[in-house]
Amino acid sequence: MQEKKERPELVVILLWWHEPVISLKGIGPKKALDLRKLNVETIGDILNMYPRFNSYIDYSRFKKIKELATNNEKQIFVCEIVSIGEKYSHKGKRYSLVTVRDETAYAEIYFFAQQRFLVKKLKVGNKAIATGKVKPGRTARMVTEASLQPMDKEDEQESLGILPVYSLAGSLTQNDLRRAVKQALLLAEKHLPESLPQKIISERKLLGRLEALNNIHFPKNFSILKAAKDRFIFEELYLLQCGLLYYRNKVKSGKKGIKHGKDGVGVSRVLDCLPFQMTDAQKQAWLEISLDMQDEKPMHRLLQGDVGSGKTVISALALAKTAENGYQGCIMVPTEILAQQHFQTLTGLMEKTSFRVELLTSSVKGSKRKEILADLASGNIDIIVGTHALIQDEVIFNSLTLVITDEQHRFGVEQRAKLANKSEFSPDVLVMTATPIPRTLALTVYGDLDVSVMRGLPPGRKPIETLCFTNEKRPEIYAGMLREVKKGHQAYVVCPLIEESDTFDVNSASEVYEELSHGYLREITCGLLHGRMKETEKGKVMQGFINGSIDVLVATTVIEVGVNVPNASLMVIEGADRFGLAQMHQLRGRVGRGNNQSYCVLLTDSDKPETLARLKIMHECSDGFVLAEKDLELRGAGQLFGMRQHGLPDLHIADILHDMDVLLEARTLAKKTVAEPAMFSDVEIVLKNQFDERFQRIFNL
Ligand code: ADP
Ligand code: MG
Repeated sequence: MQEKKERPELVVILLWWHEPVISLKGIGPKKALDLRKLNVETIGDILNMYPRFNSYIDYSRFKKIKELATNNEKQIFVCEIVSIGEKYSHKGKRYSLVTVRDETAYAEIYFFAQQRFLVKKLKVGNKAIATGKVKPGRTARMVTEASLQPMDKEDEQESLGILPVYSLAGSLTQNDLRRAVKQALLLAEKHLPESLPQKIISERKLLGRLEALNNIHFPKNFSILKAAKDRFIFEELYLLQCGLLYYRNKVKSGKKGIKHGKDGVGVSRVLDCLPFQMTDAQKQAWLEISLDMQDEKPMHRLLQGDVGSGKTVISALALAKTAENGYQGCIMVPTEILAQQHFQTLTGLMEKTSFRVELLTSSVKGSKRKEILADLASGNIDIIVGTHALIQDEVIFNSLTLVITDEQHRFGVEQRAKLANKSEFSPDVLVMTATPIPRTLALTVYGDLDVSVMRGLPPGRKPIETLCFTNEKRPEIYAGMLREVKKGHQAYVVCPLIEESDTFDVNSASEVYEELSHGYLREITCGLLHGRMKETEKGKVMQGFINGSIDVLVATTVIEVGVNVPNASLMVIEGADRFGLAQMHQLRGRVGRGNNQSYCVLLTDSDKPETLARLKIMHECSDGFVLAEKDLELRGAGQLFGMRQHGLPDLHIADILHDMDVLLEARTLAKKTVAEPAMFSDVEIVLKNQFDERFQRIFNL
């Protein structure tokens, strides 16, 4: 890479921007610690800390006391404290009475019981912001369920403006934060380099960085506040895209991709092994993947298919294609259970080929491990199935040209990249997931990822019937489970937590296991599976369930990903209100894999209408794509696809769903920027400053 000239202004910005918050007036060691809880350590962090939920108090719009509606609704007003007194009600209860006024009228504010401590902070003559329910009263307006927030001198001067409301922690107050931000803004006033190319600012008519910063904290009015937000949303998405594209290009241009040949005898032998016809969706997905692999350009594809849509077959075909070309392929999965299961499935599907398939997890030890590592390095193994064990340094491939990760939401970008970097080539990358990721999110997270979607399920499946009950029905539900098992079927019971906990009143897996195996289900065999068990124990239990010696598996969400036991026809989810829709859908996908009518029963002890409405969606809808969207609506993007999980910085102000249009535009502009060295050199500095070496780490440069 070319040496860049050191820019003088960069040194300056580094100085004050990276200075610790403690250097600000009013922030001592204690408040600095409180700020750290909010992830704010430097002056730059303070400026990047935008008001909470985008909320601001608009003093210019407050009503005067005389104008307040007296219909007992909560209202807010600014007042001066006239007197503070202690009184007794005629029932002998103590209460505090604070009399306040403004230019128009008086009001009496009542504080009962614990609320009375609020009064301690108040002084006669102070100005304060009052909220509470307002009634007419005899002599003055009467305010109950109130709070009175004293204002300091600075607030008073500004009481006609719009003030930011920040998230708080510890002893921090709004005033602390407002004062800190103001000092930081003064520093910015002296020197703050622009972070977007001038050309883009003028083309998109964006606010300059300083003006935007000033107005996102202390807006002059609401329209400029919107302009400030728009600018930062754009900036965030644009810089992220620039970073992704830039580093992606760098990774790509470094190594050669591999051109696999047309489908050969290996692929057709796998096809011969299938006991069924591929669905149209599978054929289409395979066509796309197969063409990608035949191209010299490295494949970078996301295969989305609902739970049970048959993605494993596709991975088998791709692995066979690699092997028949004399290269190695690997598939990485998030759990040991899943690795074992895939190993068995793939070994079966490769039966008619001469390819050697092996398994590598942390429980493969000793001489077997040595042998596998040696044979991988020498090229004696064609296909390897494994867990995170595959990305360890000791694992060396001979000629890795295909990297598949299954159920990708468990893997970070970093882990995937680490695996891909084990090749002297730029390998073809296939990411398989049952969690439908909106196209735009895929763009943000992966840069330029192609997407294949398999909609629908293979034919012959009976739809799973989903029912929802409160805990009163448990005896009947488990009696039903007993009947189902006696018919020769198997069942799952899923529980939200592993151990007893004070905070959650939820049945834990071990507890439920004890209860069921000694109670309702004592006549049959139950197994327990949770994340804290040793891998070997887990393997034993899982094997028992697969071979049918265990009838009912009581488990935590460890079974969520990929477990395939077609004989299981009933699942009970305890404490169902604790789960997200998409997650329950994944869980539910463990049944309905065979030819039997399958059931999923959601149990809850909550009778909240929202909870029941949410669970009802599960009853009505069996399309994972629709459920994921509903989940997004109900729980927000962060819950479903935490950016952190993907190894990328969290979005600060932009909202993937809401700002989709901006994202697409930012992406187009980012593409142009990265292609234009003069323009990119400006951005590169910001990227380095903003994300540090984060992108480099992600792509393992
Ligand atoms: P997922 O997409 O959730 O990983 P799997 O690959 O585990 O799904 O497939 C689920 C089940 O469906 C497996 O038992 C598999 O053998 C079966 N299956 C896959 N494709 C077909 C098909 N075309 N027709 C019938 N059954 C199929
Ligand atoms: Mg699967």
